[in-house]
Amino acid sequence: MLGESLQARAASAAEPDREQIGDLRGEDERLRAFADDLVCDGDAARPRVANVRNIHGAKVSHYTHRVATTAIERKLLLGGEWLETGDWLEVRSPYDGSLVGRVARGGSAEAQVAVDAAERAMAEPIPAHERAAILDRTARLVDERSEEIARTISAEAGKPMKAARIEAARAQSTFTMAAVEARKLAGDVVPMDASPAGAGKVAFTLRMPIGIVGAISPFNFPFNLVAHKVAPALAAGCAVVLKPASQTPLSALLLAELETEAGLPAGWLNVVVGPAAEVGDVLVEDERIALITFTGSSGVGWKLRERAARKRVNLELGNATPVIVGADADLDDVATRLAANAFSFAGQSCISVQRIYVERPAYDAFLERFVPRVEALVVGDPSADDTDVGPVISRDDRDRILEWVDEARSRGARILTGGELDGELLRPTVVADAPSDAKVSCEEVFGPLCTVAPYDSLDEAIALANGTRYGLQAGIFTSDVKAALRAAHELEFGGVTVNEAPTFRADQMPYGGVKDSGNTREGPAYAVREMTEERLVVLQL
Ligand code: NAP
Repeated sequence: MLGESLQARAASAAEPDREQIGDLRGEDERLRAFADDLVCDGDAARPRVANVRNIHGAKVSHYTHRVATTAIERKLLLGGEWLETGDWLEVRSPYDGSLVGRVARGGSAEAQVAVDAAERAMAEPIPAHERAAILDRTARLVDERSEEIARTISAEAGKPMKAARIEAARAQSTFTMAAVEARKLAGDVVPMDASPAGAGKVAFTLRMPIGIVGAISPFNFPFNLVAHKVAPALAAGCAVVLKPASQTPLSALLLAELETEAGLPAGWLNVVVGPAAEVGDVLVEDERIALITFTGSSGVGWKLRERAARKRVNLELGNATPVIVGADADLDDVATRLAANAFSFAGQSCISVQRIYVERPAYDAFLERFVPRVEALVVGDPSADDTDVGPVISRDDRDRILEWVDEARSRGARILTGGELDGELLRPTVVADAPSDAKVSCEEVFGPLCTVAPYDSLDEAIALANGTRYGLQAGIFTSDVKAALRAAHELEFGGVTVNEAPTFRADQMPYGGVKDSGNTREGPAYAVREMTEERLVVLQL
């Protein structure tokens, strides 16, 4: 039976754990308490489970552990079975280091089992109408359990509930749109009599699933970005081997549970949580994986593509999002939108507003409106309903951002607000007059920081906005249609928003970047296109 060896390994390896864990309370796997062994405080907070480990040890080491009351335990989904591996990965809150849950830790063996299961699944294709029905049922389940999804996202990613609830709602839309794509997946008729060579023939194309999809997702949208990989793959008729971010596997496994509940047959979605390099190597090296869809940082993404030269490798990567504010824009509206979109989820969205260029006559008036709005944001516990800005994902990232602030300051930049800690959290930070080659001006900060600078001409503003290796989304606020259209043509980005923050995304949009930001477009219609191949059929009449 599938996974027998893993089960056996888990059974033998799990015994010592069980002794140490003691009696686990409750039967519900989704939400069972870890009993007092995992409910500790102060220095005693280290779980007394020998082989529970966190492969991001460094990322959470600074936190003092608080009393945990409940924690989630999840197994891996391989070939339709929920499997232990005998080894566990801890998930801790980026806010206070408390234990959120633990997940069975897989590696290359589990990844191979997952690919085998996906291969078996694809040997028995599911008709489009059934795939669509499964996706529709998943969308309904996402809606029904949206609060649980939002709580899970918030707990493991440190995302404020306001933003986590939006992510859950968006995931419902992602599944709904993917169901539409499953229903309309079709090829084209080729006009064969358009050339003498085609006379007497009829030809058309079929859209065939490309094969098994290997999906790698980041921590910052741990539910909806998994949905953006899994839902179109299923719509296209592809089985999936998913490796979620190690910091946030619980959301991905919850999504897998909903897929199973929606009736997805065994093997169509397999989830392996474990060391990135080990699982990644299997996805790169196993020839049965036809396509890798990766969302994450540029360095990792481009390296993967280099290593998987014979596969389709779709990359959704970072950005250093610019926005141009014309003097003719509605400054109150702009200030409100940009304060929200530079700092929501502590700036950890790939299209978080990072660089704001304001036409010089409006610069002071803009700052008078913008800075107080930034200072009014509520910084704190992500589980609280009124929090706007929570933690960044790790102490390393927090310290890196502080170093970048210091670098800008030492080169003449002024910190208009923030630039320091509020307890353990970074305060929303606005930096003025940073040199254009300072890190905060051209690299991806991925934190609660934005820069502001004046410009004198649209040419200059466009050049400043383009002065980065990234090209995901950019924005312009202006009432001048000509200026807006010029910017749309000349900004070297995958998307340009006009009179809306470039952080805007609706899930059916073609979303993706140019330059270092990637090489593809997501959004179910566009991802399905990537995940299928055209097969030509020619009939001699
Ligand atoms: P990351 O460190 O690159 O990790 C992304 C994923 O890649 C994780 O699952 C990670 O696993 C895995 N990974 C790391 N090294 C790997 C390797 N050698 N082989 C295979 N997989 C590997 O990125 P992140 O910090 O999670 O996410 C933030 C980045 O994602 C930012 O740059 C952001 O802009 C970008 N992003 C882009 C988009 C977009 O749509 N364009 C959307 C969201 C985020 P582990 O967690 O186990 O290390």
